[in-house]
Amino acid sequence: MKVAVIGGVAAGMSAASKIKRMDPQAEVTVYEKGGYLSYGACGLPYYVGGFNDDYTKMIARTREQFEKTGIKTHLHHEVLKVIPSEKQLLVRNHETGDIFIDSYDKLMISTGASAVKPPIEGIDRKGVYQLKTLEDGLRLKEIAADPQIRNVVVVGGGYIGIESVDAFLHLGKNVTCVEFADRILMPFDREISALAEKELISKGVSLRTSEKVVSIQGGQSVSSVVTDKGQYPADLVVLSIGVRPATEFLRDTGIQMAPNGALIVDREMRTSIVDIWAAGDCSLVYHKGLKENAFLALGTVANKCGRIAGENIMGKHIKFTGALGSAAIKVCDLEMGRTGLGEAEAQRQAIDYRTVIVEAMDHPAYYPDPTPITIKLIYEAGTRRLLGAQTAGIKGAVMRVDVFAVAIHNNMTTDELGMTDLVYAPPFAGVWDAVHIAANAAK
Ligand SMILES: Cc1cc2nc3c(=O)[nH]c(=O)nc-3n(C[C@H](O)[C@H](O)[C@H](O)COP(=O)(O)OP(=O)(O)OC[C@H]3O[C@@H](n4cnc5c(N)ncnc54)[C@H](O)[C@@H]3O)c2cc1C
Repeated sequence: MKVAVIGGVAAGMSAASKIKRMDPQAEVTVYEKGGYLSYGACGLPYYVGGFNDDYTKMIARTREQFEKTGIKTHLHHEVLKVIPSEKQLLVRNHETGDIFIDSYDKLMISTGASAVKPPIEGIDRKGVYQLKTLEDGLRLKEIAADPQIRNVVVVGGGYIGIESVDAFLHLGKNVTCVEFADRILMPFDREISALAEKELISKGVSLRTSEKVVSIQGGQSVSSVVTDKGQYPADLVVLSIGVRPATEFLRDTGIQMAPNGALIVDREMRTSIVDIWAAGDCSLVYHKGLKENAFLALGTVANKCGRIAGENIMGKHIKFTGALGSAAIKVCDLEMGRTGLGEAEAQRQAIDYRTVIVEAMDHPAYYPDPTPITIKLIYEAGTRRLLGAQTAGIKGAVMRVDVFAVAIHNNMTTDELGMTDLVYAPPFAGVWDAVHIAANAAK
């Protein structure tokens, strides 16, 4: 059996590896447009920010390791077209310029998403970057190391934008963050994102929310960013205003897509066309809380769904249990996590919900250095079934979100969670842990 995989990072290499493990005789060929396989893009902000100076640590498995397992890998090879009726691919080798046709029995699409580049005046000026691929990270780290680069403007206050802000602060730069919405980190509810804003401002970030970038000024290189409310000096601009599924080349295949271009898949990762599977940022994914498909561009989802796609390509019928949008971020000295529904999502679903916010210590005062954790829970009125949880704190906040995620996953009520037998010892947690305190505060 001949399997072609388009895109060789998280979802693609998870699928390819699974297929090879299940059938060492299967012929698996990976086409990757870029120059690297199987790397953790999630590590890029920390590489740029100098938390890690060895980019190879972000590479989970090298090309040589994949080749040893029998997976054929082609770097700098872009698939230009898929012809489902012929089961053929049109591929360009960017190193030689050659274009050739390959065929497949089964096809895995794992092309991820591309960073959005809006038509802003001056956007192509030297000094304007994005942080999406390993190549972007290598370039940005080199530029940022230049001591002449003092003023950095990050456009976009989502996960990647705020991680970039954190990275540039760590490098000692003057950082401005411009966000069009009236707050940053929209996957969090307002009370929790406000804590991130407070943390950034306390660390000296010039945070400009409710501002729209209108142009990027400069001569040969960038010199400032102009918004509808002001002008900010910039030696370097990082644009992180979102991603769009990299599926444009599939437009005429007939594969069903969502309005944003994400491929529509069932819970076995099948697309609407026989023998074509998809997973990761290029596709939608079943959201267990929303009980429908959603676009969640997260590595958590890409790795799991890629592996499931691999198994199903080999004839299994594994259904993805569903994502919860669980995610975490470090904002300077603050850690924040979220899982399940936020308030806006609960409202969109017309759920009769309640919320509670508590502040509880990560461990008791009779062990040194206890720190507070803020926890917000969203739960169904009446039944008190947990729907969502968000946390922020100096330590212990993020990993507690995993407890909430498991509880939501298993349809637990706050009453059940409030009596769950969690660990207790003074260096780690109180006898009533912060998780219990939040759950028991839900009325
Ligand atoms: C800076 C940063 C930080 C992140 N942090 C986190 C985090 O902390 N937690 C988290 O869960 N997620 C995080 N993510 C998201 C996570 O990295 C992605 O969800 C994940 O990489 C998606 O995997 P994927 O395989 O679907 O797509 P990708 O990793 O984007 O890989 C797709 C590959 O397909 C290739 N490709 C595209 N089109 C073609 C074509 N036509 N032909 C051949 N190849 C093609 C691309 O070159 C690309 O290499 C982060 C992402 C970034 C950029």
